[in-house]
Amino acid sequence: MTVPVFRFAPSPNGPLHLGHALSALINADMAARSGGRVLVRIEDVDATRARPEYERSILDDLDWLGVRYEKPVRRQSEHADDYAAALDRLAALGLVYRSFLSRTEIAAAIAAEEARNGGPWPRDPDGAPLYPAVDRDRPDEEAAALAGAGRPHALRLDMMKAVQLVGPLSWQEFGDSLDGPGETMTADPAAWGDVVLAGKFAPAAYHLAVVVDDALQGVTDVVRGRDLYFATAVHRLLQTLLGLPAPRYHHHRLIVDIDGRKLSKSRGSAGLAALRKSGATVADVRHIVGLPDRNSTQ
Ligand code: GLU
Repeated sequence: MTVPVFRFAPSPNGPLHLGHALSALINADMAARSGGRVLVRIEDVDATRARPEYERSILDDLDWLGVRYEKPVRRQSEHADDYAAALDRLAALGLVYRSFLSRTEIAAAIAAEEARNGGPWPRDPDGAPLYPAVDRDRPDEEAAALAGAGRPHALRLDMMKAVQLVGPLSWQEFGDSLDGPGETMTADPAAWGDVVLAGKFAPAAYHLAVVVDDALQGVTDVVRGRDLYFATAVHRLLQTLLGLPAPRYHHHRLIVDIDGRKLSKSRGSAGLAALRKSGATVADVRHIVGLPDRNSTQ
C-alpha cells in the first residue's frame, strides 16, 4: 500500500489562528492514524502579501502544537519555474490570455453589463463578480505588443474553452474518513469564470500553484477547510488539463467567530501565539477547536 502524503499549506500573510490549528492538527492526526507523511508548504507565491516573519511564527506555532513535518518545507516563491512550465502547457492548449483591465475598468465593465441586462452580474462561489472577459478575444499580437510596452496584466484561463475541452469533472470527497468509499462530487469550474493563473506580483496564482505543488510533492490527501470546497472544481480542471493525478479531498468544518464569520488573520482573530502566551496548552487548543485528546486519536 502506498504511504499517504498529507500537507498543511499556510499563506504567511499573518499569524496562525485557531482555524489553522484545526487544519494542521487534523492533518497530523490523519497521518498518525494512517502511517502517513506530513509536509508543510509555505504558500508565499504572492510577494506583495507574504512576510518572512510570519513564516517563522507559523513554523514556531506548528512546533508548539506538536505537528511534526518533513524538512525542508517547500516555499512557493522558490519554484517559479515549475509554475511557468505549467503555464506554458496551458498556453499551448490555447487556454491562456492576457487581461489588462484595472480593478476600476473591471467594475465599469460590470456596471455597463448590469445596466444593459437589467440584472445583477454573476458572482463566483466566494461572492466576487466574474471577470467580464471583454479582452479575451484580443488578437495575440496586439496583447503581446501591449505587454511588451510594459502594460500591467494578468494571465487568465479561458474557462469556457477549458471546460469544453475536458468535459464533465468530479472529485472524491472523503470528509473525516481515511478509508471510506468517498463521495463523488460534481465539479463546476465554470462557476468561477476566467480565473487568474498568474499576475503582476505572482508567477502563479493560488489555483495554479496549489495543483502543481500537490502533484510535485506527491500529495495523496488534501485536508483543508470547507472555505476551499468549491475551489476544488478549478483544481480538478487544472489537474486534468495538466495531466496531474487527483488527490483525495477531505474538507473540514471551519471555526467561526462569535458573529458566525470565518476566522480571519486580517480581522485579528484569536491568534495561536497570543493563546500560547496567555498560558494555554496544546490540550486546551484541541479542546477549543473540538478535537479529541491526542491520546485518543492514535
Ligand atoms: N494557502 C491556503 C490558505 O492558507 C490553503 C491552501 C490549500 O490548503 O489548498 O488558506
